[in-house]
Amino acid sequence: MDTMFDIGVAFFFGAILGSFLNVCICRIPRGESILFPRSHCVSCGRLLSPAELIPIASYLLQRGRCRGCGADVSWQYPLVEGFTGLAFAALSAFYGGLSLDWAAASVLAAFLIVIAGIDIEHKIIPNILLLAALPFIALWLGWKVSGTGGDVHLILNSLLGAVFGAAMLFAVFWFSNGGLGLGDVKFAFVFGLMLGWPGALWALTLAALIGSIAGIAGMVAGKWTRKTEVPFGPFLAIGYFAVFLLLDSRWSEIIRRFLE
Ligand SMILES: [Zn+2]
Repeated sequence: MDTMFDIGVAFFFGAILGSFLNVCICRIPRGESILFPRSHCVSCGRLLSPAELIPIASYLLQRGRCRGCGADVSWQYPLVEGFTGLAFAALSAFYGGLSLDWAAASVLAAFLIVIAGIDIEHKIIPNILLLAALPFIALWLGWKVSGTGGDVHLILNSLLGAVFGAAMLFAVFWFSNGGLGLGDVKFAFVFGLMLGWPGALWALTLAALIGSIAGIAGMVAGKWTRKTEVPFGPFLAIGYFAVFLLLDSRWSEIIRRFLE
């Protein structure tokens, strides 16, 4: 029962944070502050009331329109809120409650959601986001290293994963003439630190695989052509996050419990 409670709390927390992630996705690429001014309608500029800040529910109650000017509110808002809520809830189920492991994975997920969202909308991965993720990843790494009694191999392995991913994508960047951006290269370095070697290799393979499938699907559906500039960031985010979870030692226990 405790776990159910935690999953519920994780969902609400995720949905509320998701509303902040929306602000980040909208404002960071424009170089605006993510704290001021307060949330407002992008059409009429009216400040939102507390009731209008309630994630998902406010969008549904207002039928996707601004209460002041009636302008359509982008469906990106409830989508990001709902997705972040579900992600946080699923992670709390995976980690068996609101633990430090859950918090670390949730922060990672939040960063990746913002990066993927901005890359989809603006085709860039802002340096400021990668820089903001670095201290968090350093903290996480320090925590993991202290858990092993100070094994420095973990740090070397982590650096290897970062350099490998960045080198691979830099090679693609170099030879593909803009098929990939330097933002992707920097992404692979920063988040490769969390995966190490060979995790970074698996993550890149998975990202390339999902990206290719999506690309073929997009062309078959007639939505994309060979010339369409499809951002790679969202696929990197999925690949790196999936491998981060897959590398978790909890799987052996989850499978054991499932088989019993
Ligand atoms: Zn308005």
